Formats: sequence, structure tokens, C-alpha cells
Amino acid sequence: MARSKPAATMAVPTGLPAAEAADIARLVEDLDAMLSRLRLGAIREQLDALLDEAARRQLNLREALAWLCAAEVASKEQRRLSMAMTIARFPFVRTLEGFEFEAQPSIDPGKIRDLATCRWVANGDNVVLQGPPGVGKTHLEVALGREAVARGYTVQFITAMELLGSLVKGQQQGTLDVRLAQYSKPKLLIVDELGYLPLEPQAGHLFFQLISRRYEQGSVLISSNRPVEEWDEVFGDQVVASAILDRLLHHSHVVTIRGDSYRLREKRRSGLFRPQAGSSSSSAIGGMPPPTPAKEA
Ligand code: ADP
Ligand code: MG
Repeated sequence: MARSKPAATMAVPTGLPAAEAADIARLVEDLDAMLSRLRLGAIREQLDALLDEAARRQLNLREALAWLCAAEVASKEQRRLSMAMTIARFPFVRTLEGFEFEAQPSIDPGKIRDLATCRWVANGDNVVLQGPPGVGKTHLEVALGREAVARGYTVQFITAMELLGSLVKGQQQGTLDVRLAQYSKPKLLIVDELGYLPLEPQAGHLFFQLISRRYEQGSVLISSNRPVEEWDEVFGDQVVASAILDRLLHHSHVVTIRGDSYRLREKRRSGLFRPQAGSSSSSAIGGMPPPTPAKEA
């Protein structure tokens, strides 16, 4: 591993007798090496500033040590968080604070706040978010996924198409087991947009295998524009659909969102979009022109 950059702030005081200055220089160097070896990067990089601050606050040795450790822990937690967010592969940043509950009255804010505690993830329960396009399903998936990451759970976000495509490919190439193991690993697997596009005939069987593996081990958060009652059409197989739902819904929370697309609501507000004559503005799946497929960054 490349040696990390030198600690910029570890200075030797000037104006000391040569022998004393040399002793201090050696001490600074040894300390720098030990902090590196112990991987205490935050302490190492900010040692002088942290010690100055500890002195300013008149901390005793024990307090100063706790203060230095707290800086290191905070820095490590920040790194863990940013790495786990990257690994989760969220398509964009969305938070619960950024979710306007008033815009979607069919959602019970208390229910979502309860889900945000991630007790369901700890228990290995599942969550299904069902509702028409644009009502905030992916937003809530990302927001809840981030809460789970913040609480230390491993999370992976994937679209249903990508997941099922990968399982089908695995089956064709003889690597299905490896892929099933890979998608069984994260404590929370978020499967976005089931039901939007037609699935390959064997996709239902493969999804069933994944859900069985994860059953009571890890949680699945899944969003769909089709209510679970219509999943036999989604999978094109009633037996497979009910086997999937049997496991998925055994310990689960189903959140049904009704109402208008948030995107179209915004457009309507700014006058960019007007419902066509004769179309119902509240029938978000039928009777409405498809929303612009905008993937916000
Ligand atoms: P869906 O997954 O149900 O199709 P999205 O979650 O992709 O919908 O929402 C579309 C866009 O509208 C996203 O940018 C999302 O952040 C935003 N959005 C949807 N509902 C809300 C809401 N209630 N408050 C704030 N932003 C919302
Ligand atoms: Mg979505």
C-alpha cells in the first residue's frame, strides 16, 4: 500500500537547542509512523489542530484522548457511510426530509417514519410499495435505503429488469448460483419497478429462487406499478406468482400509494402540462399520457 501523505501539521517548534529539537523531531516522526500503522488517519492528519483545540479547552489527558478518538471514530464512520452508499448503487439522492407528504395524502407519514427506524430490516421483513408512476415509490425506496445504510445494514438497489436479466443470464451461463448468492448477501435488497416491462418466461422462477433464499434472512423492498393481486400477470404464471407472494408477504408491510404523479403535478403547476380534454387527471396509470421518462440526478 502506498504510504499516506505526510501529516502536514506535525511541526517541530522553532528556536529550541539543536539536541532538543532533534529529540522532538524524532518523536514527531515516530508518532506519525505509529498513527499510520494503527490507521488513525484522522488523528494523524489533524494532530496539531486537535491538540491545540484540546489545550484551548483545557482538557486533561484522559479527556484529550477521548477527544482524539472521537475525531477518528467520526472520520471512520463518515468513510464507512460514503462507501456503503456507493456500494448500494442508489440511482440518485433522495431523503425522507425531502419527501412532501402533503403531496401524497394516501401515504400515512407515521407508517413511513416507522419504516425509517429500520426495525423491519432488523427482523428480515419485506416492504412492498405499490402505486402508479411518479408517486414517489423510488424516492421512498432510496430514502429508506439510506436510512438502512446509516444504521449499518448492507443495502443494494437494483431495478427489477437488471436483476431478472442478470438471473436469466446466470442461468444461461451456468453461473446462477453465484448470482443468487450475490443478491442474497445484502441485508436489504431494493428491487425497483417490477411490472413496468414484460419479463422473460423463466424470470418468475428465478425470482422465486431468490426470494426463497432470502426468506426470513434478509429484507426485500420492492416497488411496483401493479398491485400484488396482478402479479400473476406480471410473471405470466399464477403458480409462481403466488409462491413468490406467499414468501414475500409472510412478514411484510404493503404501502399502497394512490394519486397523481408528482412530476406531472410540478409540470401542471408551472403550466407546462395540461391534461388532454376528456382524460381524467387522477387516473395515473390509465387515461393519462405517459410522463416524460425523466431520471433526475
Ligand atoms: P415512482 O418511482 O413512483 O415512479 P419517483 O419516486 O421516481 O416516482 O418520483 C418522481 C420524482 O418526483 C422524483 O424526482 C421524486 O423525488 C419526486 N417526488 C415524487 N413524490 C414526491 C413527494 N411526495 N415529495 C417530493 N418529491 C417527490
Ligand atoms: Mg420509480
